[in-house]
Amino acid sequence: MSLDDLKYVKVKTHPTARNQAVSTQPLLAGSIVLSNQAFATVLFENQKGRRCDHCLVLSETLRKCSGCASCCYCDANCQTRHWPSHKKLCKRWNSFASSNEFQALPPHERLDCVLLSYFASPLSANDQLAIFKSLLPGPTHHSPPPTCTPVDGADGLYDRFGNNNFTIHSHLNSFAHGIFPLASRLFNHSCTPNAAARYKLVRGQAVTMEVVALRDIAEGEEICIPYLDPALLQTRQQIFQLTYGFQCTCISCEGLKSVGPIPDVPQDPARLAALEYRLRTFIGVDDLEHCVLRTKPITQSLPSEIRCFLKEDYIEHLSGVFSQSSHDGPYDRALDSGTTLLAMYLLIYPENYPQIGMHALELAKTAWNASMPMNDIVRRQHAMAQVRACLSVSRRILGLYGPEGDGGGPLAEITTLQQLVDQEG
Ligand SMILES: [Zn+2]
Ligand SMILES: [Zn+2]
Ligand SMILES: [Zn+2]
Repeated sequence: MSLDDLKYVKVKTHPTARNQAVSTQPLLAGSIVLSNQAFATVLFENQKGRRCDHCLVLSETLRKCSGCASCCYCDANCQTRHWPSHKKLCKRWNSFASSNEFQALPPHERLDCVLLSYFASPLSANDQLAIFKSLLPGPTHHSPPPTCTPVDGADGLYDRFGNNNFTIHSHLNSFAHGIFPLASRLFNHSCTPNAAARYKLVRGQAVTMEVVALRDIAEGEEICIPYLDPALLQTRQQIFQLTYGFQCTCISCEGLKSVGPIPDVPQDPARLAALEYRLRTFIGVDDLEHCVLRTKPITQSLPSEIRCFLKEDYIEHLSGVFSQSSHDGPYDRALDSGTTLLAMYLLIYPENYPQIGMHALELAKTAWNASMPMNDIVRRQHAMAQVRACLSVSRRILGLYGPEGDGGGPLAEITTLQQLVDQEG
C-alpha cells in the first residue's frame, strides 16, 4: 500500500512538522482510519518459542526452523512466508547470537539487530521499503548494532529506527517491535491523541496495525497517535527532543507548562488523603457508583493544592499500591488508590483512551472481590452498583477500541464479570 491508496486520510503540509495526516471525511469514534501490515517484526526474547516468528500468534505446537532451531512457526505456510527475510540469517544466526559482540548488546539493540537484518534481503524491496527510506531520521546519529549479515546502508536505516518503530501489544501488553512504514510516515504525535494503534494477529499473516479513531473526527482534522505513554508527565518532553527531535505543544503539554513548577506530594498521611479526596471530587469520580467519567485536560484552572499529583512517579506509586492490594487486599485500600488513579487517568489521557477502559475493568474486578465477603445487604448492593458502573465504562471504551492481539482478554473478561453480576440480580 502506498500513500496514493489511502481512503480515510491524506497527507497535508504542516506549519512546523514535516506533514500531517488529515481525515478526508467525517469519521465516527471506533472507525479504522488506517490498516498497515508490518514490513518487519521481532519478538521480545521472552516470547521466543511461545509465538510464531512470522505471524506472532501464540501456539503450543510451534515447529522449529531446522536450519537454526531459533525461529518457530505455526506451520509450513508461516515458515515459507518468513523465509525470504529469514534465509540470510538462518545459517549464521547461532554463531552470531553466541558471540560476545551480540551478547554485550542491551536487549533493545539485540531486537534492532534482527529488524535491521530484514533490510539485507533484496526481496524486501517494495512500497513499504521505499516509504521507510523516505522517513526522517532521528535527531541524533547512533551507530547501528552489529548485524549477523551485512546490510547496505545500515547507518541510514538505523537512524530511522528510534523515532519510527512501534511496540506491538496484545491487550495493551507489549510483546514485539515492528516496522510499519506507512503509519510512521503519516501520523504525528499528541499526548491527547484522537486515534490509537491496535494490533491484529491472524495465523499465517504478518501483523496488521489498525489505527482506530478514539472519538468522532471532523473532515480535515489532523489525526494524531501517541508515540509514548502520556502518563510520563516529566520525562516525555525530554524523550520527544532526544528521540524524536520535536517539542510537543499539544493541549496537555501546554496545560502542564501553564501550571508551572509542580510542588511535592505531602508526606503527612492525613494531608495526603485529604488532597487525594479533593482530586477525586474535582474530577467527579469519588462516588464510583455514580461517577460521570469525563476527561479533564490539565489547564491553569486546576486547583493549586492538587497540582502536586502531576508527577509520573506518583502515578507509578499509585498504580503499584492498586495492583498489589487489588489482588491480595485490603480491598478498601485497593478501591481508594484505584479511584484516585482513575482520577489521574482522566486528567492525563484523552477521551476513550484504552488505558482508562482497562483500569475501569480492574476497578470492577476489585469491587467484585470486595463484595464477596460482605454479609451486610446494603453494603453488598452498593458494591454491586460500583461493579456495574465500572463495567459499563469499561465496555464502552474497550468496545470502541475493539479487540486486540490474542483471543480472550479484557472484552471476554467484561462478558464473564457481567454474567456473574447479572446472576446476583
Ligand atoms: Zn504463524
Ligand atoms: Zn532458521
Ligand atoms: Zn504533548
